[in-house]
Amino acid sequence: AKHLGGNTLQFFTERLRASSLESLQLENQLRKALDEGQLELFYQPRLCLANDRLEAAEALVRWRHPQQGLIGPAQFIPLAEATGLIIPLGEFVLRQACAQARRWQQQGLAELRISVNLSVKQLRQGNLVSLVRQVLEETGLPPGLLELELTESQMLDDIENAIDTCRLLRALGVSLAIDDFGTGYSSLSYLKRFPVDYVKIDKSFIAELEQSGEDAAIIRAIIAMAHNLELKVVAEGVETQGQMDFLKAHGCDEIQGYLLSPPVEPERFVEMLT
Ligand code: C2E
Ligand code: CA
Ligand code: CA
Ligand code: CA
Repeated sequence: AKHLGGNTLQFFTERLRASSLESLQLENQLRKALDEGQLELFYQPRLCLANDRLEAAEALVRWRHPQQGLIGPAQFIPLAEATGLIIPLGEFVLRQACAQARRWQQQGLAELRISVNLSVKQLRQGNLVSLVRQVLEETGLPPGLLELELTESQMLDDIENAIDTCRLLRALGVSLAIDDFGTGYSSLSYLKRFPVDYVKIDKSFIAELEQSGEDAAIIRAIIAMAHNLELKVVAEGVETQGQMDFLKAHGCDEIQGYLLSPPVEPERFVEMLT
């Protein structure tokens, strides 16, 4: 047993060494990817249920790896956050998304709001507000066409600072959304304090909406409460017509999900607009 223990320990040590080596390699590759233009944005449409029009698109980052092909954000955003690479990566995403939305606007394709995910690290960076102002100026995108998505847990981390930053961002004319709403702990009591425009109901509630009376009740409650606070409601992860019908019947403002389209390349996104 003793020698088995020794082997086990050795095994774990090696695993640990291998995994930190892997993550170091991944970090270097990701840095290179950013420099060499291997990161790109996909866009997923949001449909306004009141007028049946595509009014917004969420920008979602992808890594087109020369050997491994397309890599999703879940595989590298956590590492980017841990290493601080999320700051230049987030700046790239913001600039790219605004430039794209501006081109679509200039081509007369649509007055689409473009929505960009922010990491907590970006929110806490002192210069976020001036970065956003600068990118809007550079690209010429009207501030009303930019939306920034933040998660609840990010805001709760340092509430007063988050509220201040949100106020300054909204003063620029951009709109704000709380992403993954309902997955945190203090949603209801804090919601009224955050100067935001949209709540995005987390897709975990939508997934079982048709099977689970509880999830349906939670969704109705979120919609009612958000509307009382004069916020708009977006449901994400909408995959079925039944889910869409329920959301429409209960006054949800916008939906996003595979039912409409997965996130796609800009060229394919344009096809949905024309
Ligand atoms: P998120 O912001 O909650 O984005 C929605 C995720 O749900 C996306 O995954 C999208 O592809 C997926 N999705 C869309 N419709 C459906 C559906 O009908 N059913 C299901 N099951 N899923 C659907 P994706 O693109 O893999 O992104 C994962 C997460 O990575 C995002 O979650 C976001 O937290 C993060 N992320 C993506 N791009 C960025 C970025 O540019 N910056 C930062 N900080 N985070 C990003
Ligand atoms: Ca999001
Ligand atoms: Ca989300
Ligand atoms: Ca079409």
